Amino acid sequence: MKIKYTTYPDGIHDLVFTEKVKDLGLPEPFVGEVKLNCRMDKSSSQIVLTCDAAYSADFICDRCTENFISDLNTNFILVKVFDPEFADSEDNAIEYLPSDAIVIDLDPDLTEILKLSLPMKRLCSDDCKGLCSGCGVNLNSEKCKCSDESVDPVWNELLKIKDKLNN
Ligand SMILES: [Zn+2]
Ligand SMILES: [Zn+2]
Repeated sequence: MKIKYTTYPDGIHDLVFTEKVKDLGLPEPFVGEVKLNCRMDKSSSQIVLTCDAAYSADFICDRCTENFISDLNTNFILVKVFDPEFADSEDNAIEYLPSDAIVIDLDPDLTEILKLSLPMKRLCSDDCKGLCSGCGVNLNSEKCKCSDESVDPVWNELLKIKDKLNN
């Protein structure tokens, strides 16, 4: 994803990019395409890019160990300045753009940001029931008998009697 910024006049410009993860060199768990929306604010001294990246990742659920595709979003701001004073800037978000550069290549920043944006917690859904600790079945798709058997039917009858006596 490259911006030939010299072709744009100063001012606000909305830019849209789409690229396959493999063309961006993004490794697993990234899948499909990255859609990038950037608002470029160009002035005589700098270019500010306010971006939103939408992407998908193929995860394994922490609870039930099933594969699932997660659609994710991340926002970031990149600042490119024409002042050579920033040539040695330690701040990754502010980068010096040499006067002979006519193109901003977003890929290095974008791939780095996306890798860092991957969530640590990966659940196929917030209410994923996970695996039964007794028999190991996926409780999202199957019922198991472990919880039914945890209270013996004989005890159920005794509990009913106890309830009656208490009343
Ligand atoms: Zn799950
Ligand atoms: Zn079970």
